Amino acid sequence: KVLLEKVKRRFNNVTAIEDISFEIPDGEFWVLVGPSGCGKSTILRTIAGLETATSGNLYIGDRLVNDIPARARDVAMVFQNYALYPHMTVAQNIGFGLEMRKIDPKTIQERVLKVARSLSLEYLLDRKPKQLSGGQQQRVALGRAIARQPQLFLLDEPLSNLDAQLRDDTRAELKQLHQQLGITTIYVTHDQVEAMTLADKIVVLNRGRIQQIGDPQSIYALPANEMVATFLGNPP
Ligand code: ATP
Ligand code: MG
Repeated sequence: KVLLEKVKRRFNNVTAIEDISFEIPDGEFWVLVGPSGCGKSTILRTIAGLETATSGNLYIGDRLVNDIPARARDVAMVFQNYALYPHMTVAQNIGFGLEMRKIDPKTIQERVLKVARSLSLEYLLDRKPKQLSGGQQQRVALGRAIARQPQLFLLDEPLSNLDAQLRDDTRAELKQLHQQLGITTIYVTHDQVEAMTLADKIVVLNRGRIQQIGDPQSIYALPANEMVATFLGNPP
């Protein structure tokens, strides 16, 4: 599980997020939505350990991780502006986290191939990132995160650089991967369609605070307030 208890993050005099509490059971896919600046990335970065909470508690599994550094949290994060290692091939990029963990080469090779197949990258394994399209690069970044088989997967608008067709395809691949692997996932998007099709639960945020948490159908049918209704395209 992932548990947040009254998590707050302040930057000088700006409160980016406040009173953020929720519990995600193992294996669920949660989507954070809300207008620009509402605190989505700050929540992900705090869970990943790239920001520290100003107050509140954060648990991954049964472990209180407030004071655990990012690299020891067993979390993989993919950003909107993913960064690949330019001098490495696709295969080396996907396998990178595994080499670091001293997993044997044969197992790495097998796992890289499996992940590459699931993201339609198997014919590109020997290329360098600059020989790939933007969408292919983004899928390599996803593959690198998936190959680590983390306990928790954090995705910050991972499809936003893709054109509509590729976004639909990659979204379907992601959903299928989640059904296969069952890794707990928190996914940030601006895109309501993405939220409605991917989420077990949607968290709607506004100005750093949670407005509503629920499954897509009930949030759409019974929005907690006008902001939620308007944001999800079902205004009163
Ligand atoms: P977007 O959809 O535009 O990516 P977001 O929901 O991810 O927005 P955040 O990046 O979490 O929003 O930012 C939340 C608030 O915190 C914003 O008001 C932002 O300006 C502020 N903020 C975020 N990071 C910092 C920082 N390092 N220093 C100061 N303020 C910050
Ligand atoms: Mg953001």
